Amino acid sequence: MKIRTKISLLFIFLSVIILFAFASLIYLSAKRDREVQFFARLKKEAVTKANLFFDANVNAQTLQRIYKNNRQTISEVEVAIYDSSFHLIYHDASELDFVKETKEMMHTVFQRGEVQMQKNNWDIIGIKYRYKGKQYLVTAAAYDQFGFIKLQTLFESSVAFFVLSAIMIYIIAYFFALHILDPIRAMTDKAKQISGSNLDLRLVSGPDKDELTELADTFNQMLNRLENSFDAQKSFVSNISHELRTPLAAIVAELELSTSKERSLTEYKSAVENALNDAKKMVRLSNSLLDFAKASYDPTEISFRSIRIDELMLDACLLIQKSHPDYKIDIHFEEDFEDDEQISVNANEYLLKTAFVNIMENGCKFSADKQVLVSIFFEKSGILISFQDHGIGISEKDLEKLFTPFYRGENKMHSEGNGIGLSLTKRIVELHGGSITVKSVKSQGSTFTISLPYHHES
Ligand code: ADP
Repeated sequence: MKIRTKISLLFIFLSVIILFAFASLIYLSAKRDREVQFFARLKKEAVTKANLFFDANVNAQTLQRIYKNNRQTISEVEVAIYDSSFHLIYHDASELDFVKETKEMMHTVFQRGEVQMQKNNWDIIGIKYRYKGKQYLVTAAAYDQFGFIKLQTLFESSVAFFVLSAIMIYIIAYFFALHILDPIRAMTDKAKQISGSNLDLRLVSGPDKDELTELADTFNQMLNRLENSFDAQKSFVSNISHELRTPLAAIVAELELSTSKERSLTEYKSAVENALNDAKKMVRLSNSLLDFAKASYDPTEISFRSIRIDELMLDACLLIQKSHPDYKIDIHFEEDFEDDEQISVNANEYLLKTAFVNIMENGCKFSADKQVLVSIFFEKSGILISFQDHGIGISEKDLEKLFTPFYRGENKMHSEGNGIGLSLTKRIVELHGGSITVKSVKSQGSTFTISLPYHHES
């Protein structure tokens, strides 16, 4: 069932209940009012006729004539008087005798002073009347024609008003729901148009700060994130193809050139060496990309264990020295550590070592002295590791984009690379719950600082 129909039905259900309760209350109170007023009138008539009969000595024939005359035009009250031995003393119209008084009724009236009852819509009252020390039963009965007509009219108009209101409320509720849900329909139509090829489309959010605007804004924010990651993905792929195409094209050109005619052994050797260099570049790139993919996994899919930072750092240094024996790395512990826990982090050994290697290699390759100073601090929140070099430094403009995949600074001519290293490092550090910052002054050097949380045995 559509929300529009649900809202309309709920609306009408509630309104009908309220209307019904309200109309019933009015009808019942009008019914009660009629009874109270009519019984009061009956009582007055009973007393007046008894007074006329006993006090004013108006004879029975006169009273009966008045009754008969009035009866033709208005619903006249029929009165009867009995003495305490239940002998009928007076009756307005004994031939009609609607009330059918009984001895029990007389006893009840004498006991309570008054009795009210109804028979076939006739209202009947019996009262105790005292005259010259004797007790009499006076009954009065009449059909409240005027009151019942009024009640019937009230009932009919209430039913008509009830049905009309219900129809009107349903129509209003339907259009109200339509109006309220209009933005949702617009959002649905818009959302249907959004696909991978037009992620720039956005939902229209209204000027009011209501829940629907909030929903549209949240949805738009999600689209922003999706669009950014789509764009990043696209440029990532095009960067990869570019980075792979360059060395591949170089290899092809090199080999084509050497096979185009007879060459000397030295020329062949140099062509193979050049092709090998380009192939190595491609291997480095594909390794970095593989690491990048690993670092982008869900953390729950990567194995972590407690690892001592000092041991990991030494392993990283050995690895660098194996491929670049001319690089110099000094490691300093700024404070003594108290126990294993203070120097341990929860890490994936391979990935974290890759991150350290990247930063240390960068420090060496972008400095004339090919030297990096690694300092390890033990802070309250975790381990701080700073990598300081006295190299060529990084410009302020580059600092902002340094961690973007494939970004290479304006100093890239100084050394070979593919721009993956720092973005990979940042991803690895964040995967370990840490953060990375950089400070650099051009021509003076750079300092990269990584902070990692301690490993706590759980
Ligand atoms: P790559 O080193 O392969 O170019 P990275 O992602 O490791 O890629 O680094 C990105 C860029 O950051 C480098 O091209 C360089 O411009 C700059 N950079 C990184 N580390 C240093 C450093 N220690 N000194 C100067 N520039 C650096």
